[in-house]
Amino acid sequence: MDGGGEAQPWALTIGQAREALDSRRLSAAELVSSVLARIDAVEPAVGAFVTVTAERAMEQARMADERIGRGRAGPLTGIPVQLKDNLCTRGIRTTCSSRMLEGFVPTYDSAVAERLEDAGAVLVGKGNLDEFAMGSSTENSALFPTRNPHDLGRVPGGSSGGPAAAVSAGEALFSLGSDTGGSIRQPASLCGVVGLKPTYGLVSRYGLIAFASSLDQVGPLTRTVGDAALVLSAIAGRDARDATSLDRPVPDYASSLSGAIRGLRIGVPAEYFAEGIEPGVEARVREAIGVLEDLGAEVSETSLPHTRHALSVYYIIAPAEASSNLARYDGVKYGYSADAGTMDESLERTRSEGFGPEVKRRIMLGTYALSAGYYDAYYLRAQRVRTIIRREFAEAFGEYDLLAAPTSPTVAFRLGEKVQDPLQMYLNDIFTMPANIAGIPAISVPAGLAGGLPVGLQLMAPHMGEETLLRAADAYERAAGHRMEPSMDGGETPR
Ligand code: GLN
Repeated sequence: MDGGGEAQPWALTIGQAREALDSRRLSAAELVSSVLARIDAVEPAVGAFVTVTAERAMEQARMADERIGRGRAGPLTGIPVQLKDNLCTRGIRTTCSSRMLEGFVPTYDSAVAERLEDAGAVLVGKGNLDEFAMGSSTENSALFPTRNPHDLGRVPGGSSGGPAAAVSAGEALFSLGSDTGGSIRQPASLCGVVGLKPTYGLVSRYGLIAFASSLDQVGPLTRTVGDAALVLSAIAGRDARDATSLDRPVPDYASSLSGAIRGLRIGVPAEYFAEGIEPGVEARVREAIGVLEDLGAEVSETSLPHTRHALSVYYIIAPAEASSNLARYDGVKYGYSADAGTMDESLERTRSEGFGPEVKRRIMLGTYALSAGYYDAYYLRAQRVRTIIRREFAEAFGEYDLLAAPTSPTVAFRLGEKVQDPLQMYLNDIFTMPANIAGIPAISVPAGLAGGLPVGLQLMAPHMGEETLLRAADAYERAAGHRMEPSMDGGETPR
């Protein structure tokens, strides 16, 4: 809503929308209708939503307007949000983009859905994902693939492809995703939006349908770093219903965005610029690191040699935990159920028909890694290497405040390009998995375009280092001015 022409309400950042709502230049009903109209217009091409909750959204918008009218608005009152469809929403189907949960309507809200509702955010719908969050392109959705708004022939990344595409295309002002090995940051990078994976335990996993419980973390996808800070303040904090939830006071993250990063020590690990990285990606990320340096950060090269084991560790631990978490889908209490002769036959048919090929691959990998005779060779050893990787990060953070790296080694790839080659697909998360293994926070920020497609700069911080992480990301975003305007009719517009 500045300078050259009035922006459409759906194109506003949360910060801008808040201003417009509080000064009564815009009503929540107008904002939500604008977003719903945008969804109608672009959704046939993008496919970011599994479910659109239009009626409920308009009702919530009216309630938000009342709240604003009474002068009781919070930072997210009236702001349209999408939630990844592995976050339970009471009375609204939650599919995990799987046949297994096609008709599943939760009787309870996830902790984050509850907190957003309390904050007055307006749910516009549920975002598409790779089935059970397993994948890097959203092509593993059992429902339909999502397309990248910057190039409809390309994937949005995954597994939070629906959330990243929705935020990029202006179909929601923000979304929440889950990140087990990169599923918030990688799609954010490929779609030109901001994606934050918080410290493990900072945001409650209650009501997040479990993939790999020791790695899963919920976080925001937004158009700006400032918006990510606002959303994080709303969703973070202790929740007794998640045993791994941290009991720490939640700061007002937005107030840490001072722009001051002079003297901040930033390490650039050599292993993140290794083979397989596209030259255009490396060039943009190196330029971005140059911008941080120009802002006064002290940048130096460093090494995290055990990074090269992160992929192997991840593909033992994540499938092992998944095989256990997914054992509950037996067709008895809820979800897809195939009736056959005996109970064993029913179970076999239910799981054969209910799960897609990637999910089955993970269950088999995990069951194998956990089976007698192999447990020590795989699972136990992976846990030991996990400890070494954590320690290596802890040591690095003795020397550096932050680490800087690319988010993904590539820009968005074409639909179909990697589906036949699981290893190629797995490699797209090679730079994001280490943060999950160590439990540390990491953010992806737009760092410009390579060959016309978005590139993401990844910053990583020590446990609970979100304030520094957001401050540096925000300083970079302001200095570089690479924020992408909602795509499909734009591309990059410097601010
Ligand atoms: N792409 C990785 C996987 O397939 C990470 C997914 C995620 O973070 N949920 O497991």
